[in-house]
Amino acid sequence: MHTSSPSPFTALRCVVCGREYAPGTVDYVCPEHGNEGILDAVYDYAAIGRLVSPASLAASSEFSQWRYRALLPVLPGTVPPPLPVGWTPLLPAPRLAVQAGVAEVFLKDDSRQPTGSFKDRASALAVMKAAEAGARVITTASTGNAAAALAGMCAAADMDCVIFVPESAPRAKIAQLLAYGARVYLVQGTYDDAFELCLEAAAEYGWYNRNTGYNPYMAEGKKTAAYEICEQLGWKAPDAVFVGVGDGCIISGLHKGFRDLLALGWIDRMPALMGVQAQGSDFMYRTWVDKADPLTYPPIAADTVADSISAGLPRDRVKASRAVIETGGAWIRVSDERILAAIPLLARASGVFAEPAAAASLAGLLAAREQGLVGAASRVALVVTGNGLKDVDAAITACARAEISPIPVAPSLADVRRTAGGLFSTPGHP
Ligand SMILES: *Cc1c(COP(=O)(O)O)cnc(C)c1O
Ligand SMILES: [Zn+2]
Repeated sequence: MHTSSPSPFTALRCVVCGREYAPGTVDYVCPEHGNEGILDAVYDYAAIGRLVSPASLAASSEFSQWRYRALLPVLPGTVPPPLPVGWTPLLPAPRLAVQAGVAEVFLKDDSRQPTGSFKDRASALAVMKAAEAGARVITTASTGNAAAALAGMCAAADMDCVIFVPESAPRAKIAQLLAYGARVYLVQGTYDDAFELCLEAAAEYGWYNRNTGYNPYMAEGKKTAAYEICEQLGWKAPDAVFVGVGDGCIISGLHKGFRDLLALGWIDRMPALMGVQAQGSDFMYRTWVDKADPLTYPPIAADTVADSISAGLPRDRVKASRAVIETGGAWIRVSDERILAAIPLLARASGVFAEPAAAASLAGLLAAREQGLVGAASRVALVVTGNGLKDVDAAITACARAEISPIPVAPSLADVRRTAGGLFSTPGHP
């Protein structure tokens, strides 16, 4: 028997105390620091560099996030759920660049993930880690998308899942959960209440726990978007990346992905990470403005139309805070009005239909330009984290507020003519 080469995934490091644990020796969080002791996966980059390179990726026919498997904390034999997760398009949006007054805008379009949101990246990995742990049931609390993603991945992989969502979750997300066959608990409380209940139930029943900002592998799944953005730009990182932030796991994952690429020498500089928060759910923004420690800052009461970024106590706040500070980024706070306005703005300028939390990235770019936080020569990427069909009520409200409305007509051409006003001309009749 020959010795197999050691895995590039070498340890899990506590974000609070820095202590490292060998993979497999801890389940989720640092035993010394409880729920705050979120762990970060540590890699041997030299070992990764021997397994994969930009050139080998260019020749890869794996058009999903599993093209980066050498950079992910999974065992060689573990099978991904049979749905195409990741490798979503990076769409140039020249009209948005003009509107925002920057050189280039790219949309990382995760609205077209299998279950309609960015969360598929993490939930697919959760299903694999659960299988490695020999678990039969996976659980999570969620504002909706993480749950829909887990339920969809579990349906595809033929596993069971138990979901805790606040009863205020948009109906489309609840419909997805039910259709995918999850056991759904509608919690009469906030997302933060659902999170605590889910942790307790998982401990009681021994379910595998996918919770964001608790399970260390979720940010690892999410980091694949950073790899894709850079590979799709020919390994030339953008100047800034904008993303809506609730728990802070996506922005932490993006930061991890860019750090990995820097460590591998595949990119030569770190983009500024721009965290966009809703005015009514601005925990991270407040800690930044107050120069306060996010670890000990008191929870706020969160309330925003952008349900996916509503979090009174962001679970991944320590990593998220570092993501912005260490990259020279910024926290940007935008009103619900501006988030809603960004939905038709984005859709009309690009054809990409986003839910409120996903359109927040565009609202954040516009606000950042007004505040002088990004320069006119910048190349920026906006992460479109969730599909507009996830929250149709919000889209209808957004259009109504922008005075975009359908025109009722009787089924007669005469009625159409009556409404046409000066808008249309008939060919030949200018
Ligand atoms: C989860 C989510 C976010 C925010 O991600 P966090 O990790 O909670 O910061 C943004 N947009 C959408 C659509 C999401 O589902
Ligand atoms: Zn610790």
